[in-house]
Amino acid sequence: MTNLSKKTAIIGIGLIGASFARALREEGAASSIVGYDRSADVMARAVACGAVDSAAASLEAAIKGADLVVISTPVGAMAGVLAEIAEKGDDGALVIDVGSVKGAVVEAASKLNPRVHIVPCHPVAGTEQSGPEAGFAALFRHRWSILTPLARDDADYLAAVKRAADIWRAVGAEVEIMDHHHHDLALAITSHLPHLIAFTLVGAADDLESVAEAEIVKYSAGGFRDFTRIAASDPIMWRDVFLNNRQAMLEVLGRFTEELALLQRAIRWGDAETLERIFARGRTLRRAIVAAGQEKDVPNFGRDEKA
Ligand code: NAP
Repeated sequence: MTNLSKKTAIIGIGLIGASFARALREEGAASSIVGYDRSADVMARAVACGAVDSAAASLEAAIKGADLVVISTPVGAMAGVLAEIAEKGDDGALVIDVGSVKGAVVEAASKLNPRVHIVPCHPVAGTEQSGPEAGFAALFRHRWSILTPLARDDADYLAAVKRAADIWRAVGAEVEIMDHHHHDLALAITSHLPHLIAFTLVGAADDLESVAEAEIVKYSAGGFRDFTRIAASDPIMWRDVFLNNRQAMLEVLGRFTEELALLQRAIRWGDAETLERIFARGRTLRRAIVAAGQEKDVPNFGRDEKA
């Protein structure tokens, strides 16, 4: 595989940063990978588990001499990190982020000095785990990475966008280029709303005093278990997603509550036809997701053995 970076700096070495570092190394696409995290403990763990080659004492030290900088902090920290990189990074360095929301990153990046080339990205891949030990090289394989470039059309920037796309392909992802507004709306429905529903469901169960927590755990196989996997996701990451994707979230929440009201009405009036029609769409969509290779066609029993 071609070497795509002499020095890569990973800023924020959690699940995504560590996975990216491992995938780059596995492909032989980077000569050296330095990590920086605001927590010294995370940095020590990232080096100990082999996610990065070394840790830097500061953000400035990490990005010095780096031709590729990957920002994998929560979205709320990105504007500050981007501003420091635009000021102190090497001329011509490619800077990509992995944030789940793109409008806020595009807005922050558009105001900065264009001597570093910032290409906002979102790998649509993840798990409910956090931290450097959770990272694994195969995370991005056959998943989409969406690039939402800035409104720049100079040759250097266009070359940087191409380089960013090549790097994502090197770690196994498929690349799509999209307008950031469209990204935020599409991801609000496919990722952010499902997380909000899972958090809401777990909260509602917690508030239901007449059903003991022991019963909720005991009978969790009845659908609840699947929601708890999503609801176990990192609270800081998700706090920042909702704070930064407000407009698109309010749009999809409006539609969702209308749909919910429709179902509530159908249940109240015993409207079997409406219930069946709405539920049937679920199976059709699930089949399409399996056919697109984004899910396995096996029943999710939640344990290894069926006995
Ligand atoms: P994570 O495991 O919690 O890792 C984030 C790391 O960034 C943490 O170690 C955190 O330190 C560190 N950090 C926070 N602020 C920082 C700063 N100012 N400078 C340096 N390091 C800082 O989170 P993650 O799941 O990898 O998510 C990282 C990003 O990827 C987020 O923007 C998220 O939206 C995006 N993303 C996540 C997923 C997913 O499924 N998890 C999927 C696609 C994209 P502390 O622990 O001390 O706060």
